Amino acid sequence: MNLRQLFLNNIAQTSDFPLALEFPRAEGSFLFDKDNKPYLDLISGISVSNVGHRHPRVTQAIKDQVDNYMHQLVYGEFVQAPQVLLAKTLVETLSTHKTHRNQVIDNVYFTNSGAEAVEGTMKLAKRFTGRAEILSFRNAYHGSTQGALSLSESHYNRSFRPLLPEIGKLERNNYDDIQRISTKTAAVIIEPIGAESGVRLTEAAFMKQLSERCKETGTLLIFDEIQTGLGRIGYLWCLEKFGFAPDIVLSAKALGGGLPLGAFMAPKEIMSVFKENPVLGHITTYGGNPVSCACGLASLQVLLEEINLDEVVRKGQRIKQIFEKHAAVKEVRGEGLLLAAEFDGFVTLKAYIDKYIESGIITDWFLYCDNSMRISPPLNISDSEIDDLEKVVKSCFV
Ligand code: PLP
Repeated sequence: MNLRQLFLNNIAQTSDFPLALEFPRAEGSFLFDKDNKPYLDLISGISVSNVGHRHPRVTQAIKDQVDNYMHQLVYGEFVQAPQVLLAKTLVETLSTHKTHRNQVIDNVYFTNSGAEAVEGTMKLAKRFTGRAEILSFRNAYHGSTQGALSLSESHYNRSFRPLLPEIGKLERNNYDDIQRISTKTAAVIIEPIGAESGVRLTEAAFMKQLSERCKETGTLLIFDEIQTGLGRIGYLWCLEKFGFAPDIVLSAKALGGGLPLGAFMAPKEIMSVFKENPVLGHITTYGGNPVSCACGLASLQVLLEEINLDEVVRKGQRIKQIFEKHAAVKEVRGEGLLLAAEFDGFVTLKAYIDKYIESGIITDWFLYCDNSMRISPPLNISDSEIDDLEKVVKSCFV
């Protein structure tokens, strides 16, 4: 049996139509098939490979860490340099903005994934406020574990109910909904840009009112920056665009630089509730794994030192214009290099996706938005790679 057959037989499938493509190698902005044909990666493993595939500084950091140690003791017990240095660098990047309580985010809890960061932060918010209700947004995606799923879009979680109680849903940019936040609400969690709903922007005035209402009611505001963070939209964090920090920021995906890693980040006062009643209030064996952290730290350093975020914005605008000129595209949404090109429906979109793949470009659609093409290449995609993309986009008429 070949690898593809074994994949279909032995790897748990989540749809009857997996792409089932095989790329034995990846480098920079490209994935390479068995015949060494390059494919431009327009999705970055869903906003993971922000500094491209196998950046030499990143692979070297992994090798160096493996030569030292791979695992010692569960999170939060031993002093492990890669964790500590990554946490220090992350909080430095967040220190420019204060929360509505006038605090600075200076504490990081590392997890294995985005969903686990969401789970941890829900516990944190409940424990810190002594309240149970958590509000999220319609069409949100925060992960597939049961707590994170409770916060996610209703049609997607219906078959798995009952899920968590006391979860309510608000609508993005619906100002009336903000009044539903009350002194019973522990936390409001929002993706500053709704990614899996097809890249939906939040109005600055809405975000400001949301933050003000959270302050009035003593509710924690949580930004899920798992897709929007780490340079993806042309800011290091999307919160910079709004000019203030929420109480808690979530990160994952690009955070590990290609290895599994997530984090929830908050002021020490909030985070400290995990220390008592019970002691060890949230623990994880592999969260903050030193190899993942070394990889994440090297990626963050590459992002900070080698990637100009103004260029991310410029390249995003260039790609936006390329798709906007395309007759079949109705609109292009997004910021920086988190973009969605909308077609008239799934059938048309899928025909283009298939054509692009044939022409050496990898893209797909969104979990809750199957008429829009996902465009989120590595942030250091070059102009000549964008030239090649333009040629394919211009030449593909289905
Ligand atoms: N939050 C957002 C905004 C996401 O896009 C995702 C994954 O796509 C998650 C949370 C869950 O992250 P993970 O797949 O690492 O559990």
